[in-house]
Amino acid sequence: MRILITGGAGFVGSHLCDRLLGEGHEVICLDNFYTGRKKNVEHHLGNPRFELVRHDVIDPFKIEVDQIYNLACPASPVHYQSNPIKTVKTSVMGAINCLGLAKRIGARIFQASTSEVYGDPHEHPQTESYRGNVNPIGPRACYDEGKRCAETLFFDYHRQNGVDIRVIRIFNTYGPRMLANDGRVVSNFIVQALRGEDITIYGDGQQSRSFCYVSDLVEGFIRFMNQEVEVGPMNLGNPGEFTMLELAKQVLAKVGGTSQIVHQPLPADDPKQRQPDITLARRALGWEPTIPLSEGLDKTIEYFRKDLLG
Ligand code: NAD
Ligand code: UDP
Repeated sequence: MRILITGGAGFVGSHLCDRLLGEGHEVICLDNFYTGRKKNVEHHLGNPRFELVRHDVIDPFKIEVDQIYNLACPASPVHYQSNPIKTVKTSVMGAINCLGLAKRIGARIFQASTSEVYGDPHEHPQTESYRGNVNPIGPRACYDEGKRCAETLFFDYHRQNGVDIRVIRIFNTYGPRMLANDGRVVSNFIVQALRGEDITIYGDGQQSRSFCYVSDLVEGFIRFMNQEVEVGPMNLGNPGEFTMLELAKQVLAKVGGTSQIVHQPLPADDPKQRQPDITLARRALGWEPTIPLSEGLDKTIEYFRKDLLG
């Protein structure tokens, strides 16, 4: 198949490029390099089945493909909040442009939605039927509401125009190729520990997240995209739940060194807890994560050790 990945030079997108090229597909990677980088996909640049296109999804584009994975959107709070209006445009206009293309060419289209649609959840763990607790005017709203609106668009194009959609809700995912300055918690703690800097816990560190290793996530993407029954939304994530204090201690124990844990103010609207209910993914895809946090951290630490050396 010929497959378009928007945001394909980012952290998750580049692993998806690897996987799809490895399966023999043609891949067109479209990215504006806001948080992605050529380095993530440079090992494919000589491959005749790979094309890299610099383009912004808020502007329309025409490409003939069989499948579209729409991943274009900064995912780290630091980056998506630095230009919030652009984040809304990327989510909403990006979805409209991708869906318009899918409608015209009859391609199946996948949306990388997020556990952020649940906001600071009152239901725990979160099932797909939970409608969420999002502050529509807070600092995270550009991302949360942008992704919620994108979901709305996907389901409206599906109902109104018969577009063949797949919508996945991704819970915190980590692994090699995150940016050292990405700002998300796993990369922050690892980079701080490797540099011997303070480990910055926001708030008391009792807030929880569930961390999925990137290869598990990509396996879920492929299974979901290529089955015929479910359109989503479907949660994908690792149900193993940890507090940020537990995460900091694990990273410190693995890296060693002299870093101290320090506490900084908790950002506004920071969700207190998050854990995916993956009953649907288990049943529909036979999918579940295989890499526990400890093993995934080892792989990610190894990557950052090399990355920081240049
Ligand atoms: P990332 O920031 O590494 O990747 C996003 C990519 O999109 C980057 O390559 C960036 O340059 C590109 N991009 C951003 N705006 C664009 C635009 N206007 N036009 C074209 N390209 C643009 O983040 P990631 O972790 O790889 O996330 C990939 C997708 O998965 C995102 O849509 C994100 O919202 C979603 N997601 C990720 C997680 C996670 O934990 N990693 C969780 C939930 C949802
Ligand atoms: N966090 C932290 N220190 C950091 C970065 C993040 O304590 O250096 C916390 C953050 O406040 C949140 C959790 O870690 O409670 C996960 O943050 P991240 O930005 O990775 O993802 P999200 O909040 O979008 O789940």
